[in-house]
Amino acid sequence: MKDAALRIESGTIAFAGTDEEFVRAYGEAPAAGETVLDGRGKTAVPGFVDAHTHLPWAGYRESEFNERLKGATYAALAAAGGGIVSTVAATRRASEEELAGNVRARLDRMLLHGTTCCEAKTGYGLEKAAEVKQLRAIFRGAEGHPVAVAATALPGHEVPPERRGSAGAKRRYLDEIAGEILPALAAGGARFVDVFCETGVFDLAESREILLAGRALGLVPRLHADELTPLGGASLAAELGAASADHLLFVSDEGIEALARAGVVATLLPGTSVFLRMNRYAPARKLVSAGVPVAVATDCNPGSSYTESLPAVAFFAAVGMGLTAEETLTAMTLNGAASLGEAATRGSLESGKRGDAVLLDAPSLEHLVYHYGVNPVTDVVAGGRLAVRDGRRV
Ligand SMILES: [Zn+2]
Repeated sequence: MKDAALRIESGTIAFAGTDEEFVRAYGEAPAAGETVLDGRGKTAVPGFVDAHTHLPWAGYRESEFNERLKGATYAALAAAGGGIVSTVAATRRASEEELAGNVRARLDRMLLHGTTCCEAKTGYGLEKAAEVKQLRAIFRGAEGHPVAVAATALPGHEVPPERRGSAGAKRRYLDEIAGEILPALAAGGARFVDVFCETGVFDLAESREILLAGRALGLVPRLHADELTPLGGASLAAELGAASADHLLFVSDEGIEALARAGVVATLLPGTSVFLRMNRYAPARKLVSAGVPVAVATDCNPGSSYTESLPAVAFFAAVGMGLTAEETLTAMTLNGAASLGEAATRGSLESGKRGDAVLLDAPSLEHLVYHYGVNPVTDVVAGGRLAVRDGRRV
């Protein structure tokens, strides 16, 4: 829409329409106490929704990234103590305060890049105390922050290093997840339960067990599915009525049909494909054609996608997966909100929805995927609060 106007009152969108209609309803001059953002030459879009992140972690893996560029394999790096195990060790060592500070710094960067709502997972603790510490760090880091955060319990991110090597040890970890860790995370305020359903990690039966245990506690299932091998995670997501099936690089045609039938959102993470140099993306066009709602998220984490920027990922969604500018915007707003159960309240600029809006320094929406490698966001309103003005935190 050209010559558009938007009005936010008490945290809620009160008007979205043309400038002419706006002036007819509210007059030319702002009333006392009202803030006006001049959008001339700019494009207004909904606040971005980042539906897949691993925010509460400590330590970085930049050397591992560089070693991979030099040709090292993941297996060699893991044998040298790298990989997810190094992040688990650093996160277990970190204090709750340190993790909360990391969460807050990452939320700050997300906000500057237009994100007003995100999901954040545990999953680097892999034992009760450390998982609970991560969850508390999510809420402590997000307290009073303009970005709204939904927390996900992910003790099924990996088999902890001390539980590997025997079926009995893994069995005891599964029992601990269901009997101790998930109840603690549900009581602590997590909304979702997630699992890394993958060959060599948690198979279909183990993933089902973890997700059902979470569901029995009131947590909504979502899962890392068909990322590295075609294991059938998408069908499991459909079977359990999951909110979202994520990654999906190896999803089968039957898996796509199952997602469409069950109305599960496919949350795609094209930044991870690039970061890991996989030469492969999720079949976004096939998913769209099948009628699966497609969301796009950052997967912000230290090992396979270190970015807080959804606009950066938007470029990969378009160029790598072939989503159009309009599809990409929907994927990083309304469909992301749908995967978090927030489609009725967030993700579009409509009367009655939360006042989450972003101004892009761009004459049209296409610039979101066309002008890459820059931050196009100049202003952010989150829940009716002006949070970023002219590229700076307010
Ligand atoms: Zn992930």
